[in-house]
Amino acid sequence: MTDTPEAANPGSGADPPAQSGLDADVRWIERMPAGVAILVADVVRYVNAAALQLLQASDPAEIVGRRVDDFIHPLDLHRTLARLRRAEEGGANPPTEVRMIGCRGTALMVAMASTPLATPVGVGALATFLDLTERAAMERQLRETDENFQRMMNTMQDVFYRTDAHGITRYVCPAVKNVLGYEAEEIIGLPAAAFYPDLRERDVLVAAIRERGFVHDFPGRMRRKDGVIIDISISTRALHDELGNFAGVEGIWRDISERKQMERQLEYLATYDSLTGVLNRRTVLGHLERLLSRSAPVSVLLMDLDHFKQVNDVHGHAAGDHVLCQFTALIATEKRSRDYFGRLGGEEFLLILDNADVDEAAQIAERLCRRVASAAIVVQGGQAVPLTVSIGLAQARQQDQRTSDLLERADRALYRAKNQGRNRVAQ
Ligand code: GH3
Ligand code: MG
Ligand code: MG
Repeated sequence: MTDTPEAANPGSGADPPAQSGLDADVRWIERMPAGVAILVADVVRYVNAAALQLLQASDPAEIVGRRVDDFIHPLDLHRTLARLRRAEEGGANPPTEVRMIGCRGTALMVAMASTPLATPVGVGALATFLDLTERAAMERQLRETDENFQRMMNTMQDVFYRTDAHGITRYVCPAVKNVLGYEAEEIIGLPAAAFYPDLRERDVLVAAIRERGFVHDFPGRMRRKDGVIIDISISTRALHDELGNFAGVEGIWRDISERKQMERQLEYLATYDSLTGVLNRRTVLGHLERLLSRSAPVSVLLMDLDHFKQVNDVHGHAAGDHVLCQFTALIATEKRSRDYFGRLGGEEFLLILDNADVDEAAQIAERLCRRVASAAIVVQGGQAVPLTVSIGLAQARQQDQRTSDLLERADRALYRAKNQGRNRVAQ
């Protein structure tokens, strides 16, 4: 065996390469669509047309006679040479990916396989190679896309998830740890339904997705690992396979517990009086308007605490606040459950008696008046505060146009109660 190309390829030089005296054997190889090369002692002895094209050579002379090192990426050279040794020893090499360098310096990715070949100049290797450069580029692109996806998933605050057609979680991003307290791995493979505190809620969600194909900001709840139920908002779409069959869902859900909490707080502030916790003016008047639109009898008790300025003057404003709260607590427990009690402002309150005629309303008013007068109202330090209330009673009439008509009558009645000496009911 020799390791100089000249010895094996005496015709090289001015004439086209003689292809190492292998012409008869290689004529048909010439037309193969895959790149074919014959190497002996790490020197290229023959390349077919496809290989020439792949390596961006216009003439075999650009390649034949040169060492394999010139065409293999340095990082893959060691491996390639080992495979050539194996071929020389009679072993075949299955396809492997090798980075090559074309005649114009372009990096290529090929799948190369080789098998031993006895030639007149010694045992060498018959190698075939297929261009994978495009596929490699595609794979790199895919890998990058995948890496971008992973990066995005790792930094996401919301939870991205995917389930299969059976509702089994197939993917969930790491943010789920912050939201539900589970590692993603603990959830993948489990039914998504396992995390819903109420399966009916999930049924509604799934039905909506199936019907419309998607949902946006769908309200839901989930159970955290520690058992706490959180409010979530779900935006999800249905997935379908190539045949159009439902294949699961994919989307994101967001922990909106804080927002919900704030909404509830705002709703509370918009509904209740911040000092006493009874209905505020807006809400209680809203109820009155609603009740008046029906035909059932409605009476109102307009209440104003007697000489309340004195309570403030004697005990201080804070004590006055405390007295207001004790008064409202008392009325709240004494009123019938279907009645509405609210603070109109200051120490003036409204009790709406739903479905009560004048007689019944008068009885209730008298009872409340006596209850307040006999209540043991105390301020800090245990000091008792005598407290009474004057009540103006009015009943809704058919001809009342607005709530204010009724309230004006109640106000006049209240004025009379005050004038007649307070701590009493007037109508
Ligand atoms: P009257 O028997 O005629 O009703 O006498 P009054 O002193 O209660 O007089 P009026 O109803 O005109 O005055 C209400 C007083 O209630 C005035 C104000 O200082 C006090 N007040 C109103 N809102 C509050 C409150 O939120 N907290 C406290 N501590 N006092 C209040
Ligand atoms: Mg008063
Ligand atoms: Mg007043």
